[in-house]
Amino acid sequence: MVYSINYRGKGMRIAILSDVHGNLEALQQVLRALEQERCDALLSLGDVVGYGPLPNECVRLIAAQASGVILGNHDDALLGRSDIRDFNSYARQALRWQTTVVDEAARAAVSAYQPFIEMAGALFVHAGPRAPMDWPYILNTYDARLHFAAMKSDLCFIGHTHQGLVFEQMPDQSITQTTTVRIELAADHRYIINVGSVGQPRDNNPDASMAVYDSAERVVEIHRVGYDVGRTQQLMRDNYLPEFLIMRLQFGH
Ligand code: ZN
Repeated sequence: MVYSINYRGKGMRIAILSDVHGNLEALQQVLRALEQERCDALLSLGDVVGYGPLPNECVRLIAAQASGVILGNHDDALLGRSDIRDFNSYARQALRWQTTVVDEAARAAVSAYQPFIEMAGALFVHAGPRAPMDWPYILNTYDARLHFAAMKSDLCFIGHTHQGLVFEQMPDQSITQTTTVRIELAADHRYIINVGSVGQPRDNNPDASMAVYDSAERVVEIHRVGYDVGRTQQLMRDNYLPEFLIMRLQFGH
């Protein structure tokens, strides 16, 4: 299914993916699951490359299907713009290998990724609404407070940490942090929602994670989709990628 932005004035259903990380098997299963969701648009929140065995194929599939694609720190590092020395050794090793296999067409597609997208009353960004290209990590309500203060909209979708999380700011400015899978957006509350990772989940659940935002119903649902982890692991072994990165897919940590 190919998505085009088909805004009908009554709101949209937007499929939101992040952190595919070269895991084609996971991406294909997620796209298959999304066929049941009647979405008008598909957004990728970044890090299509990094870690996994099939970066070219993932870049191409995202380019063919997504209505908008945001730049992540691994995408930026592939292009030689973000400093690879900020990465841990496994991430660095995988990215160095990817720079040798990513072809010109994929590189051109990645270099066109955007820093953020605003659509249907929400902001979409890879890491966080405050200084997004510094690639901040929003891990707790203390971090979230800084980002709520910097954010103009009442709703923001992020990826980057590979952990699905919902931060909700109440009218009295207090902030809660939950792992709720169905969020009914309250009119006077504000939200930063991490959709989790398609290709390398780190919340102790190996299934791919993604979200569907329905702007008319004002509901966000987080979906988990199982895929053939062993197949991705075999492709990683065939390319001598770090064993740590191979094993973590099995446990989702
Ligand atoms: Zn990532």
